[in-house]
Amino acid sequence: MDGGRTNQPKMAKTNAAPPRPGRRARALPFLHHRTTHRFLRLLGATTTKTARRHRRTARPTHNRRVARPAEPKERAVGAAEPDGPRDPDAAADAAVVAGKYWAHRHSLFSLYDRGVRMDGEGWYSATPEAIAASQAARAAPGDLVVDAFAGCGANSIQFAARGCFVVAVEIDPRKVELAAHNARVYGVEDRIQFVVGDFFRLAPFLKADLVFLSPPWGGPSYIHAPVYTLDMLKPKDGYTTFQAAQKIAPNVIMFLPRTVDISQVEELSWLSSPALDFESEENYIHHRLKGITAYFGRTARLPSDHC
Ligand code: ADP
Repeated sequence: MDGGRTNQPKMAKTNAAPPRPGRRARALPFLHHRTTHRFLRLLGATTTKTARRHRRTARPTHNRRVARPAEPKERAVGAAEPDGPRDPDAAADAAVVAGKYWAHRHSLFSLYDRGVRMDGEGWYSATPEAIAASQAARAAPGDLVVDAFAGCGANSIQFAARGCFVVAVEIDPRKVELAAHNARVYGVEDRIQFVVGDFFRLAPFLKADLVFLSPPWGGPSYIHAPVYTLDMLKPKDGYTTFQAAQKIAPNVIMFLPRTVDISQVEELSWLSSPALDFESEENYIHHRLKGITAYFGRTARLPSDHC
């Protein structure tokens, strides 16, 4: 990890007013002089199939439930990394989880064999690379992106590979070390500013073009509910999390469990006035539905965009 750049939330801090429509938020000064642009070659073994819902003006139907089978948040896989967590409990945890998910390690990180590191949680919760890449494709190169719950860096790396500048916020310093290491494996460390901190405390001080949200889904217990509701998100409910993101940027991408109540998600777009454009997308890996991505603002593709 780049210890010199960690713990410097002020790097992304600005007291400027929110950007006016059509006007870009200011990029981070610390990145201006970093000119090394290394682009990731994504390995195409895994595809992300999408099924989309769009809305531009119609108000969503309330309390409509989406019937989908429950499934744990099994978004990743792999084996224990010798240079991974130094905490013995975390290392043991990683070994157990990694043993279970090893076969899928390259779905998580295509460059896994070049030394990618994860802790136990990362093995089952990191966003698979093909999904992270397709989410990042909604950003424009040069965008300033805040990855609010960065974890082991799966999403931050893909945004950086897209040519964005990323502020990766993560409350757990051990995960930041892993994420920073992984960014170096992918050659995108110059485009990511890691910040150890609580997203909800930092949010009022941040401005960006886009916020990416993949908050903890609340552990395995959520599978007992046939429908995942936004109040089940951790550490705060989905409404609070979304509103914190909206203070940073009008363009938000949210990665959610596949059983999420999509009507509730769509209602988030009405927290803004005028309502934000909205699109939801089902994300598949090897024909298995792994999660739902919700796109708000200019990240949403409308039906006319597909013509
Ligand atoms: P992913 O790796 O796909 O981003 P995870 O569920 O593993 O998803 O990541 C959630 C991450 O969010 C965890 O690493 C956790 O430590 C972090 N986290 C939890 N609460 C906060 C918070 N308040 N601020 C920043 N990060 C947080």
